[in-house]
Amino acid sequence: MTTYDTVESPDETTVFSYHDLEPPTLSDVYAARSVVSRHLPETPLVRSEFLSAELDADVYLKREDTLPTGAFKVRGGVNLCARLDEEFHDPGLVAASTGNHGQSVAYAGREFDIPVVVAVPGDPNPDKVAAMERFGAEVHPHGRDYDDAREWAEARARTEGYRYVHSANEPALVAGVATAGLEVVERVPEVDTLFCPVGGGSSASGYCLTVGDIADADVVGVQSENASAMYHAWAEGHLRPREDADTYAEGLQSRVPFALTTEMLREGLSEMVLVSDDRIEDAVETMLREEHLLLEGAACAAVAAALERGDELAGQTVVLQVSGRNLAASKLEAAVCGEGGGSE
Ligand SMILES: *Cc1c(COP(=O)(O)O)cnc(C)c1O
Repeated sequence: MTTYDTVESPDETTVFSYHDLEPPTLSDVYAARSVVSRHLPETPLVRSEFLSAELDADVYLKREDTLPTGAFKVRGGVNLCARLDEEFHDPGLVAASTGNHGQSVAYAGREFDIPVVVAVPGDPNPDKVAAMERFGAEVHPHGRDYDDAREWAEARARTEGYRYVHSANEPALVAGVATAGLEVVERVPEVDTLFCPVGGGSSASGYCLTVGDIADADVVGVQSENASAMYHAWAEGHLRPREDADTYAEGLQSRVPFALTTEMLREGLSEMVLVSDDRIEDAVETMLREEHLLLEGAACAAVAAALERGDELAGQTVVLQVSGRNLAASKLEAAVCGEGGGSE
C-alpha cells in the first residue's frame, strides 16, 4: 500500500492527500516523452501563410488538433495513467471536464485499461460527451458550470475511492502536455514568441518549461475577458476565484485559479493577455475561411491575441498553440454562415 503525504489545498479546489504539487522539471518532461511517444504521434508544426503575411512574421501552428482526441490534453492523460499507482487501477479515475480533459482521461484510461468517470456541466457540448462515451467513460452531467461538476467529482472521489484527476494541479499532466514544447524547440529552435491559450494553465506551464527555458522564447498566455481567473491570479499574485467564467471558448472556462500552474506561470510566463469573446469567435471564422482549419474557440484565443498585436510581431518567429478542434456543431454553423458576434 502506497502512503502519501498530505498536501494542504492552497487554492479553493480540493487537493487530495495523494496529490503532489511540486512543479515538474525538464527531466520529468523528457521522462514523459518516452511514454507519450509510445501512445501518441508527434504533432505537425505547420507554417501559416495567411498569418505570416498578416503579421509580417514567420508564424507556425502547433497542430495539437491532430491528436486522436482533437486536443493537446491527452498527452497529460497518457503520462498520468502510465504512472498511476496500482491501487487506483480499480476503482479507477474520476475527473471533471467541459470536454477535452474528460476525453483525455477517457482515452488514456482505455489505453491502460483503467475505468473512468467524468463529471460534466449540466449543459455540456454534446459532441464532447459522445466522444468521451466512445472512449468508454461513464459521463455524469452536473451543475451549472465546470466548477460545479468539479465539486461533484471531488466528492465522489472521497466517497468511492477513485483517483481524482484535477485538470491542472497534477504534475504528471503538466509534464505530459509539456512534451509538445520539446517538439516545438526541436523544429523551430529560433522561436521568439509562443502564444498559448490559458484555462487552468497546464499547457502554458509546459511551454514555459520547454520553449521558455530551453529556447529562451517569450511565452504569452491568453485568456478570454469573460473567464479571467488565471489572468488575475498571475497578475495580482493571489488565488481568488471569480464570479463567472461564461465564455464562448468553453475550453477556457474556470472560475478558480489553480495553485500549481499559477506558481509555474508566475515563474515562467512573459506576459498574460485578455481577448474578447467576439475576437475569439472572429478568429474561429477566420481560420476556417483562410486556413480551412476547423478549430474550437479555446484554440483560437491564441490566434486572436497574435492578430491583436498587429505589426509588433514583424520579423519574429511566432508559434501559436492550436490547442484543439472540438467546436460544437452549433458554433460551426454560426462560423460557416458568418453569424459571429464580432465584426471583421
Ligand atoms: C483545456 C484547453 C485549453 C486550456 O488549457 P489549460 O492547460 O487548461 O490552460 C485550451 N484549448 C483547448 C482546446 C483545451 O481543451
